[in-house]
Amino acid sequence: MVERQRPPEVDRVAASQKAVAARRARASLKRDINTRVITPQEALRRAFSAPDSAAGTLRVTEFLTSIPGVGASKRDRVLEELAISPVKRLGGLGARQRAALRGYLDGRRVEPVQRPARSRLMVLAGPTAVGKGTVAARIREEYPEVSLSVSATTRPPRAGEVDGIHYFFVDDQEFDRLIADGELLEWATVHNAHRYGTPRKPVEDALAAGRTVLLEIDIQGALQVRAAEPSAALVFLLPPSWDELVDRLVGRGTEDEEERRRRLRTAVTELKGQDVFDFRVINDDVARAAQEVVELAQAPARREA
Ligand code: 5GP
Repeated sequence: MVERQRPPEVDRVAASQKAVAARRARASLKRDINTRVITPQEALRRAFSAPDSAAGTLRVTEFLTSIPGVGASKRDRVLEELAISPVKRLGGLGARQRAALRGYLDGRRVEPVQRPARSRLMVLAGPTAVGKGTVAARIREEYPEVSLSVSATTRPPRAGEVDGIHYFFVDDQEFDRLIADGELLEWATVHNAHRYGTPRKPVEDALAAGRTVLLEIDIQGALQVRAAEPSAALVFLLPPSWDELVDRLVGRGTEDEEERRRRLRTAVTELKGQDVFDFRVINDDVARAAQEVVELAQAPARREA
């Protein structure tokens, strides 16, 4: 068979499409590093195992500044200390440079925190649409040894929701009373709409009985629990990638552009909130994520960098 030569114009278009796709993949990877959806170490692993991949073709300068807390001057200092040329791409680093860069990243990890080795109060939070509710429901089904706190809310019940099991459905007046009488461990207005709060007494009773208690609440609530109960273990649930979160957030594109932007802005803010959390769990598989959260209740106290 005679292969017909493609005209140069077609090749040029194909090449430029490929370049655009590669740039997009690198931009997406940088966002994932910056929002801590993946660790810098994971990006390095991908770069070294596939030098032609998005990670492999990422410039070392861009890689470093995508890491939270690394700005231009720190980047330059690190490159000088590690004797790595700023024009290098990750996949093009030699063995010594790879080891040096990995050593630098590992050296940034640390920090045991002061809290009891087995914290029995756990908070599961994360950005909107990451699937906290699904992971919590799995824990309720599979791990009866964990008490799931039942929140009070002013939101009306959805079809299939049972008062006292999914939520305590209360009116505004009753919610005001719960706040006034100090009966809530934390509370917040979520999505600018309804109020949600954790009844204090059942949590305290379950903890006193030696049970592990899990609160599935929003990020504002998680921060209040941290302030009220510094020994609580805060778990941040992450999507497998930023792009996946965007897909889950904007769904099938039924929202208008403004709503889409609002949700994305909220997600960026929420992802930034993860700094105060003790642990991160990636929700790539509900059963696995649920198991990891439950196991963390037994984990020694340490905080990831
Ligand atoms: P939904 O209305 O979809 O059940 O829940 C909306 C949001 O409220 C979720 O992000 C959930 O984590 C959060 N939420 C549920 N209960 C509480 C609570 O007691 N306190 C706080 N702060 N947030 C809650």
